[in-house]
Amino acid sequence: MSAYRYDAPLREMCFVIEQVLQAPQQWQALPALADLDMDTAAEVLAQAARFTSGVLQPLNGPGDRQGCRLVDGRVKTPDGFAAAWRAFVDGGWPALAVGPDHGGQGLPQLLNAVLFEMLAAANHGWTMYPGLLHGACETLLHHGSAELKATYLPKLVSGEWLAAMALTEPQAGSDLGGVRTAAVPLADGSLVVSGGKIFISGGDHDLSDNIVHLVLCRLPDAPAGSKGLSLALVPSVLPDGRRNTVFCDGLEHKLGIHGSATCVMRYEAATGWLVGEPNRGLAAMFLMMNAARLHVGLQGLGHLEMAQQNARRYAWERQQFRGPIAQQPAMRRTLLNLQAVAEGLRVLMYRGAMRLDEAEHHPDPARRAAAAAEASILTPVLKAFGTQQGFQGASDALQVWGGYGYVAEYGIEQTLRDARIAMIYEGTNEIQAIDLLQRKLLGSAGPAFDALLQDLQAAATATPEGQALKDQLRAATDALQAVRTQAAADPEAPLRVADDFLAGTGHLLLAWAWCATVQAVLPGDAWQAERAAVARHGLAWVLPQAAVHWHRVALSAAV
Ligand SMILES: Cc1cc2nc3c(=O)[nH]c(=O)nc-3n(C[C@H](O)[C@H](O)[C@H](O)COP(=O)(O)OP(=O)(O)OC[C@H]3O[C@@H](n4cnc5c(N)ncnc54)[C@H](O)[C@@H]3O)c2cc1C
Repeated sequence: MSAYRYDAPLREMCFVIEQVLQAPQQWQALPALADLDMDTAAEVLAQAARFTSGVLQPLNGPGDRQGCRLVDGRVKTPDGFAAAWRAFVDGGWPALAVGPDHGGQGLPQLLNAVLFEMLAAANHGWTMYPGLLHGACETLLHHGSAELKATYLPKLVSGEWLAAMALTEPQAGSDLGGVRTAAVPLADGSLVVSGGKIFISGGDHDLSDNIVHLVLCRLPDAPAGSKGLSLALVPSVLPDGRRNTVFCDGLEHKLGIHGSATCVMRYEAATGWLVGEPNRGLAAMFLMMNAARLHVGLQGLGHLEMAQQNARRYAWERQQFRGPIAQQPAMRRTLLNLQAVAEGLRVLMYRGAMRLDEAEHHPDPARRAAAAAEASILTPVLKAFGTQQGFQGASDALQVWGGYGYVAEYGIEQTLRDARIAMIYEGTNEIQAIDLLQRKLLGSAGPAFDALLQDLQAAATATPEGQALKDQLRAATDALQAVRTQAAADPEAPLRVADDFLAGTGHLLLAWAWCATVQAVLPGDAWQAERAAVARHGLAWVLPQAAVHWHRVALSAAV
C-alpha cells in the first residue's frame, strides 16, 4: 500500500485562483500587488509545495509519536522541528504577506492562505509555531509604539523570533472578561506582568531564541470584564539579553497535535510593555482575528484534503470482492462527497483571503470598507464550517480504510485526532456561530449580508445548476427574517439556532462555490470537466444536508 503522504493539489489551487476567483484581475486593481502575475504566484506555490511535501510531511508521524518534552524547565520539540523551522526561515516564508516596507515579501494574503493550507495539511503540529506570526506582526504594526516596532518587528518578520498569544486562564476561556493576569505600570513606561495562563501554544520551544508573548492582562483599577483588558508584549528574552521571568510550568497531554507545545505559563513579575491603549486590549487583538480565524479554517481544509487524497489512493489499491473498493458505489460516493467539499471549501477560503487583500490594499475607501464587511461575515463561517468539515471529512475518510483506518500506522487516525482541536481554539465553533448571527447579522452587518447574497446571486443566474443556489439564497433570507421576528419576542432564540444558521450559511456558500466552479470551466479540457462533475456531485449529494439546518432554524424560531 502506498504511504500516507501529502501532494499539494497545485493544479487545482491555481485553477481556483486564476479561473474561478480571477485573482490576477484583483491584483491589477490593487497597487501594492500590481506587479504580481499568475506565473510568479504559481512558482511561489510550487516552491511551498516542495517544502511541505519534502520537509514537513515526513516529520508529521514521527513528531506525533515523539511529542514535545519539558527538560529542565525548557520545551524540546520533536526531532527535526527546529531544523525545519530554520529551512522555512532561510526560504523567506515567514510573514510572506507582510509589506516590503517592514521586511516582508508583500505577497497577498491569498498566497499566504494557500501556503498555510499546505503547511497544516502536511504537519499541523509544526504549523502551530508560525501560526501566529502574521497576526503578531499586524498587531505590532498597527498598535505598537515606535520603540517596540523597532525592537521586535524586524525579527518577527524574518522569523528569527516567534510569537505566542497568551489569552486563556483556567477561569477565563470563551469568556475572556474573567482574565486576572495583572500588569502594573512602572515610571520607565514598562509593565510588571504577573499571572498564570493555560493552553498557550508555543509558549516555550526550541525553534527560536526569543518568543514574543502577547499577553492579555489587566491594569490596576481597570473596569471589570472585557472592557478592562489590556495587551502586553512580554518577550522571553529581554532586549539586554537577560531571560525574562517567563516560565513554562508544564505541557498538556492531549488528543492530537502532539508536535505542538501546549504550555502552562507563569509570568512572575515579568517585564513587558503595553501594546495599544490601556483597556483596549481586545480591540488591539481584533486585527489578528480575521486572519487567524481564516488560518484555522484552512487547517480544516488542509485536513480534509490530506484525508481525501489518501483515501482515494487507498481505495484504488485495496481489493475486496474481486476489485478495488473505490468501485463500490457506497465508497465511490463517499470519495466524491469528500472531494466536492474539499474543492468547494477551497474556493470559499480563497475568497475570504481575497477580501482581506482588498480590505487592506484597495485604493477606494468604499471598496475597502465593503471588503472588510464581507470578510467579517465570512470569517466565522470559514473558521467553524471549515473545521467542522475537516473533522467530519477525516472521520468519513477513515471509514474508507475500514479497520486499518483505526490503527495508527496508516496515518488517517492522526489526521482525525489533529483535526479536532480546530473546532475548539481561536474561539470555539459555538462562539463563532453566535458572532455570526447574534453579533453581526442581527447587529449592524445586516446590510453587508444582503450585499453578499446579492453578489452570490450572479452565479445562480449564470449556470443551469443555479436553481440549487437560488433555493439556498431564499432559504437564508427567510431564515434570517424568521430569527429576527422571533428575537424581538424571545431574545434567546438566535442563541438556540446559531449553529444551524452558520451550517446553513456554510452550505449556501458551498453551493455558490460549486456553481462558480462549473461556470469557470473551459470547454475541451478533460481535467477541468472533472472539476465541474465534482461540483455537480456536491450540488446533488451534499447540498441537501442544508435543508436540515434551515428547517431547524425555522423550527426553533417558531418554538
Ligand atoms: C491545544 C490547544 C491550544 C490552544 N492554544 C491557545 C493559545 O495559543 N492561546 C490561548 O490563549 N488559548 C489557547 N487555547 C485555549 C482555547 O482558545 C480555549 O480552550 C477555548 O477558547 C475555549 O475555552 P475553554 O476551553 O475554557 O472552554 P469554555 O469556555 O469553558 O467552553 C466550554 C464549552 O461551552 C461552550 N460555550 C461557552 N460559552 C458559550 C456561550 N456563550 N454560548 C454557547 N456555547 C458556549 C463552548 O463553545 C465549549 O463548547 C488552546 C487550547 C487548546 C486545547
